[in-house]
Amino acid sequence: MARPLYAQINVAALRANLARVREQAPGTQVLAVVKANAYGHGLLRVLPGLDGADGLAVVEPEAAHLLRDQRYSRRVLLLEGFFTPDELPEFARRRLATVVHDEEQVRTLEATVLERPLEVFVKVNAGMNRLGFRPGKVADVCRRLTSSPSVAALRLMMHFARADEDDGLAEALAEFERACKGLPYPRSLANSAGVIRYGEVGGDVVRPGIMLYGATPLPYASAETLGLRPVMTLRSALIGVQDVRPGEAVGYGGAYVATRSHRVGVVACGYGDGYPRHAVNGTPVLVCGKKAGLVGRPSMDMLTVDLSEVPEAAVGSPVVLWGEGLPVDEVASAAATVGYELLCAVAPRVPFVTSELAGVDLAL
Ligand SMILES: *Cc1c(COP(=O)(O)O)cnc(C)c1O
Repeated sequence: MARPLYAQINVAALRANLARVREQAPGTQVLAVVKANAYGHGLLRVLPGLDGADGLAVVEPEAAHLLRDQRYSRRVLLLEGFFTPDELPEFARRRLATVVHDEEQVRTLEATVLERPLEVFVKVNAGMNRLGFRPGKVADVCRRLTSSPSVAALRLMMHFARADEDDGLAEALAEFERACKGLPYPRSLANSAGVIRYGEVGGDVVRPGIMLYGATPLPYASAETLGLRPVMTLRSALIGVQDVRPGEAVGYGGAYVATRSHRVGVVACGYGDGYPRHAVNGTPVLVCGKKAGLVGRPSMDMLTVDLSEVPEAAVGSPVVLWGEGLPVDEVASAAATVGYELLCAVAPRVPFVTSELAGVDLAL
């Protein structure tokens, strides 16, 4: 008998979300972002759902190498580029595309002779002030890179700091335009928020991440209204039921005190599984497909819910923490975070199962 907690990955939903990307940004190349172990879904597990992408983007060189070991043959882009010069021969051998965001990386490329030249994405700092070259430097960086024998082709790239805000595009787009003026290379601008606003953003190569996994990149639009389907459903079951009376507290620290008599369901899932400990009382949890509110502080292995609205609930009743029927974004906002963080944080002890079918509660 296994602990009744698992993450179910719906590959069909991933395919459908990729089709949404294609609808939003027709005629562009799609590099599906699979950094952080495919946002916690499992890099190799999601690959069948991303057949339709033109390539993949990662941050971790080991992930890129794993993709090539698995005979993934399309483009693989390293979003932070190489970290040390000794990585470059392997990048060349495995045909990896690299971001170049820093003067040190340019110097390294100028000084290195590779068995095969690389595709390079020059990153422009268009206001995020994290990685990238200031607009005034970009033309010179491109000139140096085109004359380096280690560079096969150039692309221009930027990342929006505020693509999820109404007025968050114009200034960054203007900065990018200034940087790229007269440069004839293909351009990559859009993350998920930018893909959804593709009409304003444009570009030749898009880099969606979160929308592929069926969560929203925008605070003002739900995944459902964007036509996205959840890929991960975190499922569990009730392993205990308590009756509480008025004045009684539930869990550590007495963070919830009952004001009336009701039943409390105990769910086999806690922060040791990646559930956010900061989720507040009332955070939605589905029990038997109905919304029940979290009561008390989630502990390492368990959390507790008010069963007032679910009279049929009993030990063994199915629970959804997020996913089908309960957007991860709703849980995230009740814990003052974003869906990205919850998806990435599912703990190693949680088993994963893959399904092609939506809505199937697979028993372990
Ligand atoms: C993570 C990342 C993306 C994807 O962002 P989403 O908001 O998940 O779509 C795109 N580009 C870069 C450079 C990234 O680091």
